[in-house]
Amino acid sequence: MESCLIDNFNRVHTNLRISITDQCNFRCVYCMPEDMEFMEDEEVMTFDEIVHLARIFADLGVRKVRVTGGEPLVRRGVPELISRLSQIEGLKDISLTTNGIGLIKQAGALYDAGLRRINVSLDTLNEAKFERMTRRKVLSKVLEGLREAKRCGFDPIKVNAVPLRGFSDDEIVDLASFARENSYQLRFIEFMPLDADDIWGKDMFIPGEEIVGKINAVFPLEPIPNDGDRKHDTAKCYRFRDNGGEIGIIASVSEPFCDQCNRVRLTSDGKFRTCLFSLTETDLLMHLRAGAPDGVIADLIVDAVKAKGPGHKINAADFIKPERNMSRIGG
Ligand code: SAM
Ligand code: SF4
Repeated sequence: MESCLIDNFNRVHTNLRISITDQCNFRCVYCMPEDMEFMEDEEVMTFDEIVHLARIFADLGVRKVRVTGGEPLVRRGVPELISRLSQIEGLKDISLTTNGIGLIKQAGALYDAGLRRINVSLDTLNEAKFERMTRRKVLSKVLEGLREAKRCGFDPIKVNAVPLRGFSDDEIVDLASFARENSYQLRFIEFMPLDADDIWGKDMFIPGEEIVGKINAVFPLEPIPNDGDRKHDTAKCYRFRDNGGEIGIIASVSEPFCDQCNRVRLTSDGKFRTCLFSLTETDLLMHLRAGAPDGVIADLIVDAVKAKGPGHKINAADFIKPERNMSRIGG
């Protein structure tokens, strides 16, 4: 079935990110403060509610779901949720984004539940810097989680890094080396104004072009065209000229890709957002809990997508930062 989620700019939305919790065991400086306030348990969608809404989205043409958070693996029973999502007719691709620490114990169960694709966030390979970035001293556990995921057979394993000037800008090439050695696909994500602490600014921001330049100087790269299956890829990808590996740059700030966007988002408290930077959201959970029929919820989703704006305005003078930070939206 063709997707019903088409906006006024003819963008077809087939990709849904579902945040299953806003809680996290890290406190990454670009995401949340140490004293972050979390939602009450009863505000957060139950697994039944998540599966119910995911079915409605699949009926509307969503084909890919990424489970995220906060840190999704702090919630109990994620393998069961993955297994239930995998059984929804129409959903072809389920993936998970995690800070990696929960993979030590859960990678096997997630794999057995049908999950094959994961993204693990790792910004630095240096213990002191890792502690500065995440405010936790657990780098070795993230690395152990990555190894366990590989041992279980996850493929691809993508590593997400948000480089910050003054924190980890001198590690861009080290991370590329690490990814090459371990056959991980490395994705650098430009720092976006979605941090709860309001530290985003030009002094900490590193543009994608600079990242590519640094890596290319050591490991020559060639661009991979964003066509075919990669048409909606948010990452601009490059192949290492000397081996089959690749890296990607998600340059949301310096080179926005809003005109190709096919993503929508569901927050852990059941609010539907058509953009990371939306200033409005649609409360699907409230309607679900009030007993609204699926058709009514589907109409709300379709209408919200129709009203989606052309793109974020990060670089415009009238940009307004959304109230929710990244962990409360779902990255
Ligand atoms: N806790 C999981 C993790 O860290 O992978 C999943 C949720 S996290 C919000 C998802 C992704 O968003 C991570 O790769 C993280 O690095 C990224 N992220 C968080 N805040 C960001 C920001 N202000 N700008 C760019 N990326 C950000
Ligand atoms: Fe937690 Fe992920 Fe945010 Fe870091 S980026 S604080 S791991 S939700």
